[in-house]
Amino acid sequence: MNDCIFCKIAVKEAPAEIIFETDRIISFLDINPINYGHTLIIPKEHYKEFHQIPDDVSQELIIVISKVSKAILESLKPHGYNIFTNNGRFAGQAIMHCHFHIVPRFMNDGFKFRPHPKSYKQNEMQLYGNLIREKIKN
Ligand code: AMP
Ligand code: ZN
Repeated sequence: MNDCIFCKIAVKEAPAEIIFETDRIISFLDINPINYGHTLIIPKEHYKEFHQIPDDVSQELIIVISKVSKAILESLKPHGYNIFTNNGRFAGQAIMHCHFHIVPRFMNDGFKFRPHPKSYKQNEMQLYGNLIREKIKN
């Protein structure tokens, strides 16, 4: 067994406040929440980053994210919610087992994603669009 804490939670060798699970996915409360009810959803199998997860697993993952989001909305009645995943150290990933965050948000809760720092100059948007489009795979 590796020493990944989320792998340990997935096999119940480490404690967690589990919200929901399937054979391949598990959801539990974040131990250090942005707001109370902040929930994590992970594949039970260890993948470091989102793009490494096979499509059939990521499909199940997004269905569980949707199911848990609805439960958070109905139970905690937040004013909004964020869903995000940090991939790689430079994107702020601290636990190197891919996970999605669902964060219930409340008016004036003080948590900020904005302002975004950049804007495109003339033609730059098309240039970036072309770079990415060229690598889209079926
Ligand atoms: P990230 O920066 O996306 O890698 O975030 C990792 C998240 O995992 C943080 O929000 C932590 O509070 C949370 N976390 C770390 N250890 C545990 C744990 N044992 N149980 C639940 N959540 C955890
Ligand atoms: Zn792991």
